[in-house]
Amino acid sequence: MILEKLLCNDTFTRDEIIFLLNLREEKDLNLLFKRADIVRHSFTGDSIYLNGLIEFSNYCTQNCFYCGLREDNFKLSRYRMSPDEIIDTAWKISKLGISTITLQSGEDFHYDSDLISFIIYSIKQKTDVEICLSLGERGYDEYRTWKIAGADKYLLKYETSNEKLYAALHHNQKLDERLKHLRFLSNLGYKLGSGSIVGLPNQNTEDLADDLLLSNELGLDLVVYAPFVPSENTPFANHDAGNLISTLKVTSIARLIQKSAHISSVNSIDSSEIGVVERGLVSGANIVFTDLTPFPYRTNYQYYSSKIESNNSPVDCLLDLQKRIEKLTNQSSVRMEII
Ligand code: SAH
Ligand code: SF4
Repeated sequence: MILEKLLCNDTFTRDEIIFLLNLREEKDLNLLFKRADIVRHSFTGDSIYLNGLIEFSNYCTQNCFYCGLREDNFKLSRYRMSPDEIIDTAWKISKLGISTITLQSGEDFHYDSDLISFIIYSIKQKTDVEICLSLGERGYDEYRTWKIAGADKYLLKYETSNEKLYAALHHNQKLDERLKHLRFLSNLGYKLGSGSIVGLPNQNTEDLADDLLLSNELGLDLVVYAPFVPSENTPFANHDAGNLISTLKVTSIARLIQKSAHISSVNSIDSSEIGVVERGLVSGANIVFTDLTPFPYRTNYQYYSSKIESNNSPVDCLLDLQKRIEKLTNQSSVRMEII
């Protein structure tokens, strides 16, 4: 296969995606990343979108094998932010100029349908931010109520498109069911966010190709691929972490397939490590998630272990991120604008 020609395709077969995922040579990888950067520039422009995360509860009734928030992790100290704290944090984030806020938590039914509606409605009254919910699998009626209350997006990752692997990672949940939730949310008019974890134990290249095809089929507005990071006190604590290059490859190929989508930069591993977020942004990504959960809570939202950002203040993290993205203008057409 002639790589330069393939990279300019409009559509990609499963075999072609596998071929791209198997690229190893530095010069080939550079061609892939560069092409994804050009496609990002042509289809989504040069602005980088910041998505402000409020991780408002780390209670969870699920037991996903990879996640530090799983119910059976008795070592994690749990917290819940009050509705007023959440609304106030959202207001402060909007004052920083960020226009999309993600309200994220474990599957925590303490926040019932009415409470979440109240939070959404109150934030919408005080700000003009777009609200993305990331609350796990909840009731179909709840999704409907929250849409009416003003929610705009729902982020629910399918985690892996391999049904067997999904079942092995989630003993109480099925991939089929998750996809039903995603399609229901889309039919309600939510902009849909989803994606997978790259480098999960027992995942192979074919699985990643299927993930890329599934994201396209779901017509996602927001595509999120993050590397697996082993988390303490989980059954996968001693497995190897997902690889940065593999995640960048998946991000770039996602851009070639879903040319106009919002695609997030690497927002796991240790995204404060120099260059990780930036490498994603010059390889096809145009979104950065930034954790703006206030102290003291931010130190305890540990779905993976080494979240170094959690030791720094939200505003410091944001300023640091801004500076780092501004530096990129010399290397790429990326332009820092908080939108
Ligand atoms: N409870 C909600 C939202 C919080 S978890 C939900 O599950 O959708 C948000 C995401 O964290 C999950 O979708 C999963 O993809 C990611 N995650 C959890 N543990 C992880 C790990 N060890 N490595 C990488 N990503 C992880
Ligand atoms: Fe809970 Fe989400 Fe973690 Fe699963 S991934 S244990 S649902 S917080």
